[in-house]
Amino acid sequence: NSIEIYNKLNERLKNSDISVEPIIKATGCNGLCEKGPVVKIMPDDISYFKVSTNDVDEIIEKTIKNDITIDRLLYFDTNKKEKIKSHRDATFYKPQHKIALRNIGEIDPLIIEDYLEQDGYKALHKALFQMSPTEVIYEVEASHLRGRGGAGFPTGLKWRTCSKYDQYPKYIVCNGDEGDPGAFMDRSIMEGDPNTVIEGMIICGYAIESHKGFLYIRDEYELARKNMEIAIESARIHGYLGTNILNSGFDFDLEIVRGGGAFVCGESSALMASIEGNIGEPRAKYIRSVEKGLWNQPTVLNNVETWANIPPIILNGSSWFKEIGVEHNTGTKVFSLVGKVKNTGLVEVPMGTKLNTLVFEIGGGIIKDRPFKAVQTGGPSGGCIPKEHLDISLDFDSLNNIGSMMGSGGVIVMDDTTCMVELARYYMEFLSEESCGKCTTCREGINTMLKILTYITEGKGEIDDIDLLIQLGETITEASLCGLGKTSPNPVITSIKYFKDEYIDHIINKK
Ligand code: SF4
Repeated sequence: NSIEIYNKLNERLKNSDISVEPIIKATGCNGLCEKGPVVKIMPDDISYFKVSTNDVDEIIEKTIKNDITIDRLLYFDTNKKEKIKSHRDATFYKPQHKIALRNIGEIDPLIIEDYLEQDGYKALHKALFQMSPTEVIYEVEASHLRGRGGAGFPTGLKWRTCSKYDQYPKYIVCNGDEGDPGAFMDRSIMEGDPNTVIEGMIICGYAIESHKGFLYIRDEYELARKNMEIAIESARIHGYLGTNILNSGFDFDLEIVRGGGAFVCGESSALMASIEGNIGEPRAKYIRSVEKGLWNQPTVLNNVETWANIPPIILNGSSWFKEIGVEHNTGTKVFSLVGKVKNTGLVEVPMGTKLNTLVFEIGGGIIKDRPFKAVQTGGPSGGCIPKEHLDISLDFDSLNNIGSMMGSGGVIVMDDTTCMVELARYYMEFLSEESCGKCTTCREGINTMLKILTYITEGKGEIDDIDLLIQLGETITEASLCGLGKTSPNPVITSIKYFKDEYIDHIINKK
């Protein structure tokens, strides 16, 4: 639909009699997926929501030619309570702070000049000509940036460790295999601002003496792949990739690899096996990829959002970055806010923002104003957070402390109609299908938990099943090889912890 609107605007404006030649840009999603397609008219900064092709002629006639705003397209919320002129005035955007998503919705991702106008590749220039590789690593370390893919490992420490190994070639990898149900932040960055990922990877290449990077992109993300391909080619043409980058003497190039199609391929060691052309199975974690990663060579792997943070950190400095967020959790985090919330979409907020703000201010509250019940953070192996914890700070450590996790940033909001046992069963079903089957605890354990949960939801459960689920969960966490297995019991364990009554109700009252 957006493409049809874009084409119609182009065609009508080409044949119109307006005096200035308009520039029409197709941008990525500016986060508010729920209210799209959005048409922004600059320089007046007017945002029209839920535009259809039928609105195009009226927009040209009234707004572009005669400066008259069309009221009915200004309503931001479906209840017509919040009428705004610029999207920046909406409650959805006000608490946000955009770093990783800074250019999305503002630039045409296929035109490198658009990225350059937003200070694109200035960080690379600064790194190559004003900083030594050690200084680049120091800056990333000093920013306290933690990897945005899930584990929250310090990015600078990863780079420093890799830089110390004297074994060449070294590799840089971007994990773009986002597989969590409901998560689409990496997709949006690759589609809407591919050059920022490229720039972040080149800077790392310079810092750790690597000359080759791989972008591993989820197979279903066709547009992301296409936009990354075009951006890589443009970067080569403009001298930002290839040999002798910007006449600095530094060489670096990138290659795109299509994802293997399995959820577990998002796990770092499985992902690297997949790039090598092997089956995407995780390996033991005591072998660290910074030392023996891709083809057993030193490798730095970060996810898309982490790479998108690198250029602004190098350009503005670590002190600037550290002022955003909270101690040990600096900067911002992108969340995909979905489920029973009024405003769904991509949100970027400072670390430490309260869950309350995310759900009720940015998200606009629960659909039909029903009671809030819980949120699931961290994807299928994240945990449920009940209303008692609505005041929790959204950062790696606070979420871990209550049995949930940040994961890649998926947030699924649930209202009072959601059955928590059914939800736990759904996630175990998903994970049992996605387990690679290498470890018995993960393969058999998840399946057994799924069977017990199915019995309970069918009214055939026993009260002892609750303890059995907890014991199984502990064993799976203890004995499984990779993160998928280790964290898989989280939805069950946290739903038992916070919603045990619902399990008992299924077992006692729904027999
Ligand atoms: Fe495979 Fe599960 Fe073992 Fe991970 S924990 S290696 S997904 S069987």
